[in-house]
Amino acid sequence: MNTEKYRFNVGTFKCMAVSDGTFTYTPPNFPPPATFLFSNAPKEHLEKVLREHNLKPEQWVEWTSPYICVVINTGKHRVLVDTGAGGLGPNTGKLLQNLRAGGITPGDIDTVILTHGHPDHIGGNTDAEGKPAFPNARFVMWKDEWHFWTSDLAELKVDKHTKELLSMLARKNLPPIQGQLNLIGHETEIVPGIKAIAAPGHTPGHIALSISSEDEQLLCISDAVLHPIHVEQPEWYAAIEFAPRQVVTSRRQLLNRVAAEKALVLAFHFPFPGLGHIVQKGEGWQWQPTETKA
Ligand SMILES: [Zn+2]
Repeated sequence: MNTEKYRFNVGTFKCMAVSDGTFTYTPPNFPPPATFLFSNAPKEHLEKVLREHNLKPEQWVEWTSPYICVVINTGKHRVLVDTGAGGLGPNTGKLLQNLRAGGITPGDIDTVILTHGHPDHIGGNTDAEGKPAFPNARFVMWKDEWHFWTSDLAELKVDKHTKELLSMLARKNLPPIQGQLNLIGHETEIVPGIKAIAAPGHTPGHIALSISSEDEQLLCISDAVLHPIHVEQPEWYAAIEFAPRQVVTSRRQLLNRVAAEKALVLAFHFPFPGLGHIVQKGEGWQWQPTETKA
């Protein structure tokens, strides 16, 4: 199937999942995927679950993740959720070309919602000259998230090299949008039909989004889960979580909600187009990807 863009509807809203490309997390820059993604998983249990997913722990040496943004045309507003990674890796930074292929120019976007300040979500905020890539957009971010990433990152428990990289990319992509910025501090409606949901833990002010029209709903869960196995094993968290216990709490709340409301889900890091449903399974949940046409 086309792994660059995928159109779907939520009620009367016309939506398009748009790929920014993919990024491969591989040693020595990242731990092996099983350690990176499921840092606290008990070894034997982890190996059993990986085998159920046809993953052989010793052979699973790198994790290639899609980066999936979404555009929502509500009829009144054109909203983009996250801006991808820009030039972070050799296969990232494809958002603008894929938007254009889908008939959308940067000037058409009037609202950009940033779910959090990691480089794979804000990297396309600016163009090659460092100017805002979406000149007519209001950029919306959770207040604590903005303040965190524009601080000295003293609370961030990562190695020096990673901290310098995250700090450099935040400085490149956040201050230039300040003149277009709209910070939110509660679960407000950003445009009619699109509401912020606090989902902290992955980062201090990470948010999810509820997008609803008529009686249909899409929930963008962003990085509350990074891999489908997190849906089944919600207690397992990645090595990069800012506040791991909070990740588990936020994740359980979101998974409970989307399963109960039978909402369509979009997960930024899942196989393209990242769309599916969450169903209750035993004590946990299971990911059921939407069937997409070739
Ligand atoms: Zn991410």
